[in-house]
Amino acid sequence: MSATVLDGKKVSAEIRAELTERVERLTRTYRPPGLAVILAGHDPASEIYVRNKVKACAEAGIRSFQSTPAASVSTEELLVLVDSYNRNPEVDGILIQMPLPPQVDAQRILLSVDPSKDADGFHPLNVGNLVANRPGPRSCTPAGVMELLRRYEVPLAGRRAVVVGRSDIVGKPMALLLLHANATVTICHSRTKDLAHECSRAEILVAAMGKPALIDRSFIREGAVVIDVGINRITDRDEVHRLFQHDPARLQAFARSGSVVVGDVDPLSMIQRSSAYTPVPGGVGPLTIAMLLSNTVSLAEQHLLS
Ligand code: NAD
Repeated sequence: MSATVLDGKKVSAEIRAELTERVERLTRTYRPPGLAVILAGHDPASEIYVRNKVKACAEAGIRSFQSTPAASVSTEELLVLVDSYNRNPEVDGILIQMPLPPQVDAQRILLSVDPSKDADGFHPLNVGNLVANRPGPRSCTPAGVMELLRRYEVPLAGRRAVVVGRSDIVGKPMALLLLHANATVTICHSRTKDLAHECSRAEILVAAMGKPALIDRSFIREGAVVIDVGINRITDRDEVHRLFQHDPARLQAFARSGSVVVGDVDPLSMIQRSSAYTPVPGGVGPLTIAMLLSNTVSLAEQHLLS
């Protein structure tokens, strides 16, 4: 039986369509929801992410405010900027694009965001809300994964879930959300002893390491649901041909551009061994932005309707 593709693009479009009505209601009665985006410096990947987020806001009817301080910005200057958005009544959500320049104290900046405007759910107060399973904005990528699993009616209660990666923005919140959905959760990381063995027990396997195609056939239990969060750009011709021998379109794309994106899971093993999986690209990625918009609209509703 062939595996189900968990189509993140489709689910992202559904989520965005559902937001339209809520945005229109707020805009008609009060004002559009507002999201402030702070992008310090000129990291090329961050510039693309921010451009996509701002575009998605415009499409959803959310007003965006953008600040692009220079790479030399100080912690104090950023604190002043965040404070101005904290006090701006037209701003419902604040997003600080990571990574911040090395001289900036990122923890202090994240802590300075008003928790009621925390569009990414990174403020410790909201992390606490997540741990306690209380309402609050959730980190967008794991929240998107949960939405995908919910919409494809993947059962979680009582099932064995393994999350590989323990970062504050993906792995840890992912594990907590699965735990709150009553899965039996194991968190693996770079110091886990026998990763293949841990993963091979998973009925739900979430890979969020940033290691290209590290998870191969031997890690995947037959029939598991595999969520591949990783986004890795690879340029090595032999590696690309080894990983995408089954996918002529990808090989052609590589021939044209000299690179392709691969997740943390070997694509062919995932297709052959899982019962359902997220493709890379087009799986988890599109959900992250949809959940950012969703968080922003929810924060606006709290500010304007309650
Ligand atoms: P991170 O570097 O902060 O964390 C990586 C985690 O993986 C760490 O906890 C580390 O312990 C673990 N790890 C590293 N090597 C390992 C190994 N060999 N075995 C087991 N565990 C290992 O990364 P992150 O920010 O959590 O992102 C992870 C991946 O997800 C990256 O590829 C990133 O680009 C991608 N990502 C995608 C989206 C999306 O929208 N799809 C969003 C955020 C991150």
